[in-house]
Amino acid sequence: MQRAVPQDFDRVLSSMCTEPHPAARETAQQFLATNPGDPGTYQTVARLEERAVELLGEITALDDPAGYITSGGTEANIQAVRIARNYADADEPNVVVPESAHFSFRKAAEMLDVELRDVPTTDYRADVDAVADALDDQTVGIVAVAGTTEYGHVDPIPALADLAADAGALLHVDAAFGGFFLPFTDIEWNFAHAGVDTMTIDPHKAGQAAVPAGGFLARSTDYLDELTIDTPYLESESQFTLTGTRSGAGVASAVEAMETLWPEGYREQYQASMDNAHWLAERFQERGYSVVGPELPLLAADVSLELVEQLRDRGWRVTKTGSGEMRVVCMPHVTRSMLQTFVADLDWF
Ligand code: PLP
Repeated sequence: MQRAVPQDFDRVLSSMCTEPHPAARETAQQFLATNPGDPGTYQTVARLEERAVELLGEITALDDPAGYITSGGTEANIQAVRIARNYADADEPNVVVPESAHFSFRKAAEMLDVELRDVPTTDYRADVDAVADALDDQTVGIVAVAGTTEYGHVDPIPALADLAADAGALLHVDAAFGGFFLPFTDIEWNFAHAGVDTMTIDPHKAGQAAVPAGGFLARSTDYLDELTIDTPYLESESQFTLTGTRSGAGVASAVEAMETLWPEGYREQYQASMDNAHWLAERFQERGYSVVGPELPLLAADVSLELVEQLRDRGWRVTKTGSGEMRVVCMPHVTRSMLQTFVADLDWF
């Protein structure tokens, strides 16, 4: 049988993952056989994980960060809901999320037996009044999204943090996508801007680490205590992660990527990706399409479903939003010349 090779990225406009930075790729290969889930045995990668959390703390303006490298944004979001539920004392806990939140919160709610209260958005952002109306004495958490999956928009995080504080609930910010772009904007999203309790920020997205490397951060180790269970047969005595054996490759590559790129490399990437997203938005507008964004390097255009299918047949990996627009994510592998080819194909039909 012929050996399979991974697809290349030259027509991928749909993914929030990207090619790892070359140094991160090399480091991932070195650490393939390590397991940060057993830190007593795999001590080097355990130290690297501490460094990863320290670096994520710098990026999100959190002193003394607590957290770990997850399998992805889904795991980090599940852990956030788990903490909110366990931290509070509610018989019938609910978590309030904007309807734009990632579907991983639905998985979390089902597994954890928490009610998920979806509230409408206004202009693609959480509507603060609608969130306020949804709160009650069983609300244990509010979710704010810093870079929505469909439109790349950022919720009004300080206002949502105030609501959470008043309600005695925790505020979780899902910056899985936006976290490596937002430090270079003037948007308020991080631990210093607002009373954020926990956050998802994924090195395996715009952080340019190898998959799997999601990130979970908490303002205090007290929150991680809510997750801790005993681990009798390991050298370490307890574990707060969701999975047991974990990818040392993801952890080590996340450190390598962040050591290499934070902050200047990420700043340059943010600028290049935003320039590309604006350039593409203009090309769509010139052709009469209406465009949402880009607030972060992601835009949606009201291209017909038929045209999206034709572009897919030409090999372009593009997706539709729930409302039917074509969604394009300008991740680091997306270059201007790639977008020029894409626009030429758009014009061809
Ligand atoms: N949160 C947001 C905002 C996302 O965009 C995504 C994925 O695109 C996730 C969470 C889930 O991340 P993962 O696919 O790494 O589990």
